Amino acid sequence: MAQLIDGKAIAARVRAEVQVEVARLKADRGLIPGLAVVRVGEDPASKIYVTGKKKAAEEVGFRSWEHHFDASISQDELLAQVRRLNDASAVHGILVQLPLPKHIDAELIISTVKPEKDVDGFHPISAGNLSLGRPGLRPCTPAGVMRLLEEVGCNPSGKRAVVVGRSNIVGKPMALMLLQKDATVTICHRKSDLPREVAQADILVVAVGVPELIQGDWIKPGAVVIDVGMNRKADGKLVGDVAFQAASQRASAITPVPGGVGPMTIAMLMRNTLLAATGGV
Ligand code: NAD
Repeated sequence: MAQLIDGKAIAARVRAEVQVEVARLKADRGLIPGLAVVRVGEDPASKIYVTGKKKAAEEVGFRSWEHHFDASISQDELLAQVRRLNDASAVHGILVQLPLPKHIDAELIISTVKPEKDVDGFHPISAGNLSLGRPGLRPCTPAGVMRLLEEVGCNPSGKRAVVVGRSNIVGKPMALMLLQKDATVTICHRKSDLPREVAQADILVVAVGVPELIQGDWIKPGAVVIDVGMNRKADGKLVGDVAFQAASQRASAITPVPGGVGPMTIAMLMRNTLLAATGGV
C-alpha cells in the first residue's frame, strides 16, 4: 500500500512558516504583507475559493481585501480597478479570481497586474521567468506539488516525470518546474498514448479534470503519484483524475482527493504573497 501524502498537514506547516515570517517582518520592519483578491460576478465556486484565501491570509497575519464587482462591470472599469491596486503601496499581491464573465478578456486583465504583485504566477512575465529558469513568482498549484514531493523525500533529479495535462496554470508550469529539478519530463495531452507514457513515470502528476482517467494498473510500481484533479460526481463526492484505490496498490506514495494538492494551492499563495512583499523571489 502506498504512503498517503497528507497535503492538509503539509499545507498547515507551510502556512505556519509564513506566519512566523510575517511576525518577524512586522517586528523588524513594521511591514505587513497585503493581499487583494478581485472577484467578479456570482460564481459559487469562486466565492468559496475567495473566502478560503481571505481566511488563510488573515490567519497568517496579512492584511487582505476582497474587491467584489457585479458581473456587469465593464472591462475598462475592471482594468482601472486592477491599475488602482497596482499603485496601492499596502497591496503586495493581487489575485484575480477566474473565471471572469465572457465579455472580459481574462488574459488582458491578468497581464495588467504588475508582475511584482502577480501572486498567482499567471502573468506572461512570470511564465517567461519560469521558462527561462529565472527567479519569479510561480503558479501556486505546481509550486505546491513541488513542495509535496520534497516533503516525501522525492528528489526529481534523474527521474522520469510524466505530467498529464498541459494547461497554462497547472500542466505546463508543472513540467517546467520538474525540468528545473533535472527530471526527464514528458507532457501528455489528449493525443498521447496515456497507458504507455504513464507506465514510464517514476513521478506522475495528473491535472486533467476527467474523473479517474488514469487506471491503477498503468502505474509503474513504486511511482510517486500526485493527483491534481478535482471532479465532483453526481452524488456530490469529490474524486481525482486517478483511480485512487487501484493506484495506491502500486504507487509508493499518492495524494488523496480531497486533502492532497488542494490545500497546498492556498498555502503557496500565502508564500507567494510573502515573497512579493519582501521582494524575495
Ligand atoms: P484545463 O481544462 O485547463 O486543462 C486540462 C488539460 O488536460 C488540457 O491540457 C487537456 O489537453 C488535457 N486533457 C483533457 N482531456 C484529456 C484526456 N482525455 N487525456 C489526456 N489529456 C487530457 O484544466 P486545469 O485548470 O489544468 O485543471 C485540471 C484539473 O485540476 C481540474 O480537475 C481542476 O479542477 C484541477 N485543479 C485543481 C487545483 C487544486 O488546487 N487542487 C488547481 C487547479 C486545477
